[in-house]
Amino acid sequence: MTEGAGERATFAIWQEEILRLIALILLSWLIGALAGYPILAIGLGITAYASWHLWQALRLVRWFKSREELEVPEASGIWGEVFGSLYRHQQRNHKDRQQLAAMIDEFQASTAALPDGVIVIDPAGCIGWCNDSAQELLGLQLPQDLGQRVINLLRSPLFVEYFERGSYEDEVVVHSPENDELILSIRIVAYGEGQRLLLARDISRMHQMERIRRDFVANASHELRTPLTVISGYLDMMADESAEAKPLAPWKAPLNEMSNQASRMGRIIEDLLKLARIEGPAAQRKEAIVDMPQLINIIQDEAQALSNGRHVLNIECDDDLMLLGYPVELQSVISNLVFNAIHYTPESGEIKVKWSSDSNGAHFTVADTGIGIEAKHIPRLTERFYRVDAGRSRETGGTGLGLSIVKHALEHHEGSLDIASEPNCGTTFSCHFPMARVRVREAAAS
Ligand code: ADP
Repeated sequence: MTEGAGERATFAIWQEEILRLIALILLSWLIGALAGYPILAIGLGITAYASWHLWQALRLVRWFKSREELEVPEASGIWGEVFGSLYRHQQRNHKDRQQLAAMIDEFQASTAALPDGVIVIDPAGCIGWCNDSAQELLGLQLPQDLGQRVINLLRSPLFVEYFERGSYEDEVVVHSPENDELILSIRIVAYGEGQRLLLARDISRMHQMERIRRDFVANASHELRTPLTVISGYLDMMADESAEAKPLAPWKAPLNEMSNQASRMGRIIEDLLKLARIEGPAAQRKEAIVDMPQLINIIQDEAQALSNGRHVLNIECDDDLMLLGYPVELQSVISNLVFNAIHYTPESGEIKVKWSSDSNGAHFTVADTGIGIEAKHIPRLTERFYRVDAGRSRETGGTGLGLSIVKHALEHHEGSLDIASEPNCGTTFSCHFPMARVRVREAAAS
């Protein structure tokens, strides 16, 4: 029914009701007049009319109090309209509720079948609902754990830090509180007004495969190291002999090339081992307060030797700025970036190295005026063995693993790497370390 038609119908009902009242008064008066008590008869008629309305109002109140359990009462006239509207409203409500319940059932059935754990978290950080996988993966128990704070049940410091951070762009990898062998990737998605959805995925198998791959590369590199050392030793000896007028003299060039290639293989193996160590379990690394100015000094000497006076090397270093971190990894970061700058900067180019801090943390920057890198290569530079120009990288003795080592080392320091470059103008690599890792020399000495 349209709004206008509805209003017309309501008006007609009111009209009918007024006519009914007038008819009742007239009838009461007529009967009263015949009996000789017209006023009393009208009074009785109006009392009966009011009682009927009161009775209908009582039915309405009773129906309201029954919370819609009772059928909507039936009546005629104005009350018929009231009860009819309530009935239609009740039917609509009932249908909406059924639809909503069906939707919730469907949602719960589909999420219950998910292999990933799903937890609905309310604005207070408490568990509102979870599926079977969440119970299995995270050791939750229903219904006891409903309404419990998530961080009281998942107590891993990494997860607590992630949960309380409030910004959930990334995910966090933790061991399951139920089973230490289960490795879970947990991601939180915020929705509605303060609600959150926690998704937990079992990545133990992926982790295991990753470990097997890492161990394989580390073991293969380790096994190759000894035979290669022997081969290199003999090749160096033969290359030396070929330099003198001995029977090996005609082999001088090939022997030198073989010796160079063997050294390159050696460097690749060393870098692969370094990468495997950096990617290895955290327990194998030892954190310390690293004297970054001292490391930069040592690498400056090596860089001067490598450059052999062909470049201008500028170092700007805050001598009191130390860093809480892993010394071997930080040394790799500095040496890879500085040596790369030398390798990829033509003669008489300038290389600026800066170690400084500000309110955001500490920053290690290497800027060169070298060959630069096209923008399309930049996102891929930290991939293993990715080179812009494989020939040039080989010429400079590169292994293609340097920036990959830098990336992993920075990750262990919660740091990040920025690369800005323009072909034929130069490149700037900036490493940023968080404030929490910054130490000042005096504080470090005490
Ligand atoms: P490589 O051992 O080949 O230098 P890296 O992982 O250190 O391997 O670097 C990857 C690639 O990034 C290099 O092959 C080179 O193309 C490019 N690159 C790295 N540093 C610079 C730089 N300072 N200037 C120009 N290109 C660079």
